[in-house]
Amino acid sequence: MKKSLLIVFLLLVIAPLGVISWLSYSNIARERAVSAERYAILARKQLEQIDRLLQVRIRELEARLREYSDIYALEAEELRRIARNTRIVDQLFVIDDEHRFVFPPESGELSAREAEFLETAGRLELPLVLGNGGAAGASAPGAGGVSGPDTGAERGQTVTGMARNDTAGAGGGWYTWFMDEGVHFLYWQMAENGYRTGVVIDRIAFISDIIAALPDSDFTESTVYEDRIVMTDARGDVLYQWGLYSPGDGETPVAAVALSQPLGSWRLLSYVDTGSGTSLSSRYGALLPGAAAGVIILILLSVYFYRENKKIVEDALQKVSFVNQVSHELRTPLTNIRLYTELLKERASEGKDRRQLDIVLSESTRLSRMIANVLTFARSEKNGYEANPARVAVDDVIRKVVESFAVSLESKSMQVVLSCNAPGPVVTDRDFLEQIVSNLIGNAEKYAASGKYLEIASSQDGGLTRIFVKDRGPGIPARERTRIFEPFYRISNKLTDGVSGAGIGLAVSKMLAEKIGGKLSLERDGGGAVFKIELPDDMTGETT
Ligand code: ADP
Repeated sequence: MKKSLLIVFLLLVIAPLGVISWLSYSNIARERAVSAERYAILARKQLEQIDRLLQVRIRELEARLREYSDIYALEAEELRRIARNTRIVDQLFVIDDEHRFVFPPESGELSAREAEFLETAGRLELPLVLGNGGAAGASAPGAGGVSGPDTGAERGQTVTGMARNDTAGAGGGWYTWFMDEGVHFLYWQMAENGYRTGVVIDRIAFISDIIAALPDSDFTESTVYEDRIVMTDARGDVLYQWGLYSPGDGETPVAAVALSQPLGSWRLLSYVDTGSGTSLSSRYGALLPGAAAGVIILILLSVYFYRENKKIVEDALQKVSFVNQVSHELRTPLTNIRLYTELLKERASEGKDRRQLDIVLSESTRLSRMIANVLTFARSEKNGYEANPARVAVDDVIRKVVESFAVSLESKSMQVVLSCNAPGPVVTDRDFLEQIVSNLIGNAEKYAASGKYLEIASSQDGGLTRIFVKDRGPGIPARERTRIFEPFYRISNKLTDGVSGAGIGLAVSKMLAEKIGGKLSLERDGGGAVFKIELPDDMTGETT
């Protein structure tokens, strides 16, 4: 197959394959984005459901804590006993209607924990804040180091953070604050006598209650949690996690949800394995058959075109070889015709007979030239022709060729001007040179007879022999200058239509000129055509 054809063929196959791959890739990318979106929505819903589950736990706990609304009536010792014996209670407190602590007593015997609580409560100005119905907000007169909740600024800081009310209301609710080891919770209520009673929640017990409401972290048997759900605290540290999937380092969660109050500083994150789990065929199932069909069609098409092309090339080669054989067969009888015509001409007397024999001779020479061109062309297609270098006198060749055209040129009343200045011998292929000059003179005779003029000039200098074949015919239009050297190309116009020819004369001449180390070109000239042959003194490269 020809190189350019092969490139076109490959392009025809590769370009659509490229387009199909690109389309499949962009489809897959789009599908991935859509499924990631779907995963995110589903994951978010799942996290919200977990949040609702935790809220049920919180409501249950609230119901239990509401039982401590009337503790203002109890003795200090009784309050201490309750705190000691109740798992969820870290500390109880009572604040009177004048914002003073009734319990733990501001003056009197205090345990270390009570003293610590009073100190923290003082910093948070708890009596005042709860006196306002817990509406401390961001402007709470908190102690030093106040910062906004959930900002992360509390990370790593010591002691106080920010007091905030969660489930606000004058009647009570949750209240959380940050200290160095994390978030702290208390639940307070307004008693009937205007006192505020409250429970500081035991963090460890509270967190373990919350976690107990969540699925088992050793959930390996279940297929419900194929993903990974992580609960983090305000610092982003993991409090608890469960699910079969192990996210990679730095993997971003597909969804994140902040828990409802009083757990508002905690977050639930969901990590989903979007890469595996589902097989390639189920994910891109709709896409694969289409792409596969496209590829198969392309492969079939390429096989089809390849075979068709092979057949065309084989057919063409067969035709060339047929023409080649026929031309070969014609050559011997033609040589005989010319030989016997020459003999007859010698014996014929001057006059009509001789002129008729001249015509037979010139026509058979024309036929021989055509056959020579066909044979050369056929051999060149198979790369099967080689030059035979010998010492040749260029002017002799020119004279001999012009002589063979004498009758036909004369019959067309063409004036022939010979200006031979290349007497020195050159090393070249005599037959090739003869064929080139014959083709050029033959063309002048065929296409430029109207100019009635043909000039053949030769010269030698600087290691080069130049032969010019000039006529005064219609010339070659500028746009055809290179095309006339292409095989089978013929200019079609009023002058050339009707003139016989196969369109290979110039192509063959150019090939032959190059074969003997020379060049054939069309000179730029005003009227008529001027062809130039350039020959090296020695086509073998040796100096003569
Ligand atoms: P062919 O003569 O068989 O058509 P060639 O390869 O010899 O093929 O020539 C190609 C074309 O170039 C011709 O068809 C003709 O139109 C044009 N041509 C060649 N020589 C001349 C010339 N001397 N004057 C005008 N046209 C020419």
